[in-house]
Amino acid sequence: MAEKLLEINNLYVTYDSENGLCKAVNDLSLHINTHETLGFVGETGAGKTSTAKAIMGLLPSPNGKITQGSITFNGNDMININKRERRSILGKDISMIFQDPMTSLNPAMKVVDQIVEMISLHKALTKREAYKEACDLLELVGIKKERANDYPHQFSGGMKQRVVIAIALACQPKLIIADEPTTALDVTIQAQVMELIKELKEKFNTSMMLITHDIGVVAEICDKVAIMYAGGIVEYGTAEEVFNNPSHPYTIGLFNSVPKLDTEEEWLEEIPGLPPEPTEEIQGCVFHPRCSHCMDICKEREPETVSLSGKHTCKCFLHASNV
Ligand code: SF4
Repeated sequence: MAEKLLEINNLYVTYDSENGLCKAVNDLSLHINTHETLGFVGETGAGKTSTAKAIMGLLPSPNGKITQGSITFNGNDMININKRERRSILGKDISMIFQDPMTSLNPAMKVVDQIVEMISLHKALTKREAYKEACDLLELVGIKKERANDYPHQFSGGMKQRVVIAIALACQPKLIIADEPTTALDVTIQAQVMELIKELKEKFNTSMMLITHDIGVVAEICDKVAIMYAGGIVEYGTAEEVFNNPSHPYTIGLFNSVPKLDTEEEWLEEIPGLPPEPTEEIQGCVFHPRCSHCMDICKEREPETVSLSGKHTCKCFLHASNV
């Protein structure tokens, strides 16, 4: 039976801002099993990155807070864990790949030394052994060891992201959180980097949370999908369930806004309107101002999450049996 590696229950994250309280994550629950990849999909500001930062303990202090809920990783309570224990988990058991490789790499340090540093933090190896392992990792991500002593500025964007991937893999983590890992790269190399992540994930049997707004990428590599809107999950299920039977109007809107190769339609449908501001209080369903199926009840009450079939759930009155 699959083992739960990461489990989040009823998580709420808020930020204090000049404009008031931002409710970034609202009542979010999900889990990732060992060796499983979860696609975490939604527009900018949907709460995806805040969830990732809450897992890693990287919410900006003192403004960002977890106000409710639990996060359990590999049996560890990630909210109440002490700093020392958290440090021993981050980098070793959980690694993160950020959007922009330049924010992850130290511009003043040779790339090999950045990998050696990560290896030495978590493994009892001699400097020579760590250096050899770092060079092997560079080769694994497609960078010749002759370039190990180069600095980040000597690499292209795609190659820098390969170095970041090598650092993320340095201690063979149980979970990788990849936050829009190809967004900052040229379109031509996005597919190559995504393919590399997919290959290495399979090679090391790592679990992954892939944060993205690209539903096409999710179809290729994810086992499960969580569709986020305004801080909460509106649809959740296996990739097969969600792709074969998208059920929430927002998910259907996302699917319709992706070009399809098998139709001759020249225009893509877009979801009307904009996501709400995080400080905005919306009564009823948070998606109702943009929803073409909106009913009176949607403006009055918040829908509950209902089970559709198997693991597939949806938060929408269209699927509630008692409405
Ligand atoms: Fe649309 Fe109503 Fe469903 Fe919300 S609950 S997504 S407004 S139909």
